[in-house]
Amino acid sequence: MKVLIIDASKCPECGSKHIRFNSKTAELFCETCGYVIQEEIPVIDAKYGVSKVYVNPKEKKIAIVVKMLKTNMERKMTPFYAELKKIRLPGYIEAEVIILCKECVNKKLTMSYPKRKLLAALIYLVSKREGVPITIRDLEKHFDIDKWDLLKIAKFLAKKLGIRLNNTSAESYIIRISSEIGKEKLAHEAIKMLKCVKLSHPLIKAAVCIWIASKKMGVKIKKSELAKAAGISELTLRRNIKKVSLC
Ligand SMILES: [Zn+2]
Repeated sequence: MKVLIIDASKCPECGSKHIRFNSKTAELFCETCGYVIQEEIPVIDAKYGVSKVYVNPKEKKIAIVVKMLKTNMERKMTPFYAELKKIRLPGYIEAEVIILCKECVNKKLTMSYPKRKLLAALIYLVSKREGVPITIRDLEKHFDIDKWDLLKIAKFLAKKLGIRLNNTSAESYIIRISSEIGKEKLAHEAIKMLKCVKLSHPLIKAAVCIWIASKKMGVKIKKSELAKAAGISELTLRRNIKKVSLC
């Protein structure tokens, strides 16, 4: 909600206090000299939808409460947001997916496939890139899309949006995961641990390094919380913490 406050106490031109509002022309004008104090108050136009017009008689100010006008982009994004509600994603994945949905809108890729299917393919791509386990079966179920369609659209989007898979480094995982659990201060120490931890999977490696950093720095975190933020199972995390050999 946006509030537009216009001083209607007196006419700035002639000083008259007879200020009137013409709802047909959406103008606030001086009855004495005809001076228009505010013209084209956008929300007065019926097609934009006015929610309320308030007049404060004490201050003689008019406050017009308007519905925030939806931008073109927001309007086009609405179906994506609605579809996104069907699945619970980690916050950073959802944010990434939304950015890519906007790119799809900008590049008019929404002309090629239904938004529901584009969204499923984007979730697939982003979660794969970030190493978050979301199964194709889940996406098939939630978005009513079959596997082959999903993979075809994912390939199309990867090309159009320049999404490269498997290029995420353990370092960027550390930054993301530590911010996800609200312990950004661990990131620096965890990155230093990278060269000591011999694990091949960058996501698991990142989570393990954060765990070690937390121990070193005496910062309390829960394994369950860390595993969840990393999108791996707690068991995988526990196993790999045991496995690591430090230099
Ligand atoms: Zn006047």
